[in-house]
Parts: sequence; C-alpha cells; structure tokens
Amino acid sequence: MKCPICKSENVRVLDKRNRTKGIYRRRECEDCLTRFSTHEFVVTKSLDKHLLEMMERRK
Ligand SMILES: [Zn+2]
Repeated sequence: MKCPICKSENVRVLDKRNRTKGIYRRRECEDCLTRFSTHEFVVTKSLDKHLLEMMERRK
C-alpha cells in the first residue's frame, strides 16, 4: 500500500476493523502525514453463489 499523495511506502495502519463486506483500514503516511482509509473486499465462494442465485431469479 502506497500513499496516494506522495507515493511513499512508509504507511502505517492506525485502525483495522472487520466488517461483513470487507476489511476497513485507516492508514497514515509517515512521510507527509496524510491520513486515508482503504476498504478491502473479500470475495468468497459463498458470495459468488449468492450472486449466481440472484442471476437465476432474474430469468
Ligand atoms: Zn505521503
């Protein structure tokens, strides 16, 4: 993960929270002190199955 402002790789994680639809992380760049957050989605097989079922219903 790189800083979106200065592209530095000296980024530390301030807070990590697991949510139902992914992992939310607050990050801070140690070079320019910009704080930003990332939201990482985890794709699981059960989610794929859920999407398939929704598509089946549309037919
Ligand atoms: Zn930075």
